[in-house]
Amino acid sequence: MANASLLSALHVSLNKATEDASKYPKALLEYVWIGGCQGDLRSKTKVVNKEPQSIADLPEWNYDGSSTNQAPGDDSEVILKPVAMYPDPFRGGNNKLVLCETFTPNGEALPTNARAAARAVFDKCAADETWWGIEQEYTMFRDGTPLGWPRTGARSFGGPTTQIGYPGPQGPYYCSAGADVAFGRDLVETHLKACLYSGLTISGVNAEVMAGQWEYQVGPCVGIASGDEVTMSRYILHRVAEMYDVVISLDPKPIPGDWNGAGCHTNFSTKKMRVEDGIKHIYAAIGRMAEKHSEHIAAYGEGNERRMTGEHETSSIDTFSWGVANRGASVRVGNQTFKDGYGYLEDRRPSSNMDPYVVTGRIAQTICCDINPADDVKYIQAAESTEKRKGMSRVASGASLA
Ligand code: ADP
Ligand code: MN
Ligand code: MN
Ligand code: MN
Repeated sequence: MANASLLSALHVSLNKATEDASKYPKALLEYVWIGGCQGDLRSKTKVVNKEPQSIADLPEWNYDGSSTNQAPGDDSEVILKPVAMYPDPFRGGNNKLVLCETFTPNGEALPTNARAAARAVFDKCAADETWWGIEQEYTMFRDGTPLGWPRTGARSFGGPTTQIGYPGPQGPYYCSAGADVAFGRDLVETHLKACLYSGLTISGVNAEVMAGQWEYQVGPCVGIASGDEVTMSRYILHRVAEMYDVVISLDPKPIPGDWNGAGCHTNFSTKKMRVEDGIKHIYAAIGRMAEKHSEHIAAYGEGNERRMTGEHETSSIDTFSWGVANRGASVRVGNQTFKDGYGYLEDRRPSSNMDPYVVTGRIAQTICCDINPADDVKYIQAAESTEKRKGMSRVASGASLA
């Protein structure tokens, strides 16, 4: 083991040197992309001679797709095209994190490059100015056990030994404070600050219902930028967790049984939803989404059926439902939105491991592109007749959309 104080002194002097552009006229670019193993994030470093000012300054690059389950060995090159650039919170100075799309040498988007298809949808509905707020839940593990969970002792006889012992039942962990209930806060804080350093639109963090589970929110972001920021925030999360010897799991139900799963609630609005009478546009969107429930579920993440049991603040995976302030529904309209008569809605179905380009693209396609005005009249009437909320009522304002 190296001498810790010498090492940290070396880090301090290296960081100082590399932040001073007059002494160190180079920039390190960390190219980041989505691999071929269910959302794995990969990256490698390119050293260039000066700080890039915009995407146009970033060269295309390539990698060995046969090592990421994305190309055959005899034609293994995958092309990286930079699409977004952020200040690098780990290296500081001139250095950047560079988000890339992936293509074959012939210029076709790889199947794992869902950003390409989402871009096409967002181009079609740019006038709708879609906003997205994504609640990323995740679980921290160390040595195969969620952070804060007891480990079972080794046994010299008897049945199989598992690494996981169980903590006290859920209840005290959500938004908790205290060493016996909040586990991993230092990692959470470091991740939050690193994301803000990179210019990501993080709007909050909180401890979740299961011990060792946390959430951060990304947004509101406009259109394709939502997927970009969620992807880069996940990359930063994995990198920060390395420093704590913690593994981040985005599994939708990391521990089976009476423990909450992890989701990626997707809040969204269009320009018309955000102004007076916007609720009608919200109701029309709910109707459009109800018709496409199974297409949406298919796009909302691998293994989501283990999470969406109808228990633990989830809805049933088989049926679409919505409600004001209802955390057991597929789609929730918040009290504030209902009271104001405009705002946004929350799709609670996407799982923590969802591809944000697939989910935002799918929703935008359904609510902005596949529209039939005659159906919308029915959807709005149906929603207004089911509006029920103690002590609250709104005056229905006619079913046609301005
Ligand atoms: P919850 O009450 O479900 O826990 P959160 O506060 O965790 O909700 O997340 C709500 C997200 O919705 C935040 O990222 C927030 O920025 C985003 N948001 C707020 N207003 C809008 C809007 N008009 N359109 C889209 N997203 C929005
Ligand atoms: Mn939340
Ligand atoms: Mn949550
Ligand atoms: Mn939510």
